[in-house]
Amino acid sequence: MRKVKDIDWGNLGFQYRSCDWRYVSCYKDGSWDEGRLSDDPNVVLNECAGILHYCQECFEGLKAYETVNGDIVCFRPELNAERMAYSAEFLCMPPFPKERFMDALDKVVKANIEYVPPYGSGASLYIRPYIFGSGPVIGVKPADEYMFRMIVMPVGPYFKGGAKPIAIMVSDYDRAAPHGTGHIKAGLNYAMSLHAHEVAKEAGYPENMFLDPKEHKYVEETGGANFYFISADGSTFVTPKSGSILPSITRRSLVYVAEHYLGLKVEERRVEFAEIGEFSECGLCGTAAVISPVGLVHSHEGDIVFGKGLEEPGPVTKKLYDTLTGIQLGTIEAPEGWIHKIA
Ligand SMILES: *Cc1c(COP(=O)(O)O)cnc(C)c1O
Repeated sequence: MRKVKDIDWGNLGFQYRSCDWRYVSCYKDGSWDEGRLSDDPNVVLNECAGILHYCQECFEGLKAYETVNGDIVCFRPELNAERMAYSAEFLCMPPFPKERFMDALDKVVKANIEYVPPYGSGASLYIRPYIFGSGPVIGVKPADEYMFRMIVMPVGPYFKGGAKPIAIMVSDYDRAAPHGTGHIKAGLNYAMSLHAHEVAKEAGYPENMFLDPKEHKYVEETGGANFYFISADGSTFVTPKSGSILPSITRRSLVYVAEHYLGLKVEERRVEFAEIGEFSECGLCGTAAVISPVGLVHSHEGDIVFGKGLEEPGPVTKKLYDTLTGIQLGTIEAPEGWIHKIA
């Protein structure tokens, strides 16, 4: 047995917990320094740091876990490295090079290997890379110094006792503007969505469905997960296409799984809110939960119920979930290059 920390793996939530090591690199005078592991969980910043005033920050989220063979792996981390570089450049920040990202990932996971939950616990090691403006700015412009950090924390199974469908609500607010920042993974999009999220929670819904910001006619995403739908006859996987949603790696992987593992037709297209009542299943996808089945969508016009509503997920959702998690945990053969072995 691999040595692990004495942690109640089955009862971890999704919350911050400081682990022994984090990876840190600083950008100054036009280049990133060589980077290092640090045991200090605190960041000391100048009072005028760019992040504090004009919100220059982007982040990623991925997981390391133990497979059925005892390997410690990550799922498609190159895509996180690429997306993070794209987000950084969109916010006028220096991208952290992909090879450096991969090196930092291997180093930080190895350094904290005893925090990687054992196979079968359902828990995983959540990895949060981020870049922010650390140099002082007061006139509006990009900072000239930045920090890259990659921190890790063990998190529990998102769903204790299996995925139960959730009820969500159509928001009256928008999460991103047309031609804005909706397609990058930036903290500022989350700041925007907090108020809408609190409004939904007070009304009894754990998540929002945001519609397109221009016409409020097409389905976009939630605050932190993309949507998919299954056609009434179960033959087609439909997922919204829009310039203002975040390109989820889980969604892109499900598109492949739907087509190549489950033999479904795939449609990536604009999805009108008015048509979703015709679908038999609805789900949210993202790294945190992989898939959250949606049983009901509430709007001012009334409720739309999918399949058996909040009772249990639909059959295609179950297959998608079992296949993707099987690929991740090594019980189903993965497409070439999807699993990155760290130890
Ligand atoms: C991170 C994120 C997702 C999910 O992306 P994954 O790569 O699947 O984790 C979806 N929407 C938003 C807004 C996000 O920030």
